[in-house]
Amino acid sequence: MWGCKTPKGVTYTASGFYLDTFVEVTLYGCGSQKIANKAVDMCKYYQNIFNFRDESSTLAKLNQSGSMRVATEEDEALAGLVSIGLDYGKRTDYSLNIALGPATVQWDFINKTVPDKSEIESALKNVTPDKILVSNSRVELNGNKIDLGAVAKGYIADKIKEYLVEEGVDSAIINLGGNILCVGQKTDNKKFKIAVQQPFGRGNEVAFSLGIDDMSVVTSGVYERYFYRDDILYHHILDPDTGYPCDNGLWSVTIISSKSVDGDCLCTGCFVMGLDRAVKLIDSMEDVYAIFIDDNSNIIYSAGAEAFVN
Ligand code: ADP
Ligand code: MG
Repeated sequence: MWGCKTPKGVTYTASGFYLDTFVEVTLYGCGSQKIANKAVDMCKYYQNIFNFRDESSTLAKLNQSGSMRVATEEDEALAGLVSIGLDYGKRTDYSLNIALGPATVQWDFINKTVPDKSEIESALKNVTPDKILVSNSRVELNGNKIDLGAVAKGYIADKIKEYLVEEGVDSAIINLGGNILCVGQKTDNKKFKIAVQQPFGRGNEVAFSLGIDDMSVVTSGVYERYFYRDDILYHHILDPDTGYPCDNGLWSVTIISSKSVDGDCLCTGCFVMGLDRAVKLIDSMEDVYAIFIDDNSNIIYSAGAEAFVN
């Protein structure tokens, strides 16, 4: 590429622990170590906006006060992602429900405790996403508390890709805890090979791998954050109707899409919708594909998805 001084075969990698997960950015073609580092630093910037569990984040302050005037760049990013989350909420009958904050905080996958039923029930009373108002200048929660955990990594991956492309990077992988976004092709007309984990598999057992260029691959699965209590599996994707982990025969959903925020929103949404409704939704959308793994390890493809398997 014009202006690209990177010797052939040289890669630049930066990594860190942000957004409650391991993140890594690798540049294969043009670029520099400085660009890779800055890409990873962007995770820290956005974590300080979107992590509602951190009291000093922009989102925690919004949840606390209930409304916000959009004044800074950080506020704009927050209002933007809330608006995207609400939009995908509507498209998935609120299977993706960013107003589930009062219920998600009840679940603790580190100390492995099952919350009281009464606590979950009262938490759900304050989940009314259709009452949240977002405009260019204001956000009004009207009693809701927002959790952007299901959508933030996709949004941030897209922002990192924008930055890399601006810097002339033509080949890269952005990996935010398994939320993958590719920039261009790997090199020499080869696609990136993205492996999707076998749920509950031994070690890093692979369920299937995909050949991808320039697209995003996002997986949501029950095996990412879970514990067993009295032989019941409790995991981190909640059914908004009950406030309990979604129990519908799915183990994971993988979405292939151009934008990673679409993949992240749809992944969680489709997981909660269940196989039949999710396949219908994905098949109605252009250039978005889904691959499901059910609790018998069967792999099910939306129209055209199997073509990515390699
Ligand atoms: P991961 O963060 O492991 O990639 P997801 O994108 O599926 O997985 O997001 C799961 C997170 O989103 C949960 O940890 C919780 O904070 C929040 N969440 C759980 N259930 C829902 C839901 N139905 N709608 C929106 N957010 C949810
Ligand atoms: Mg998600």
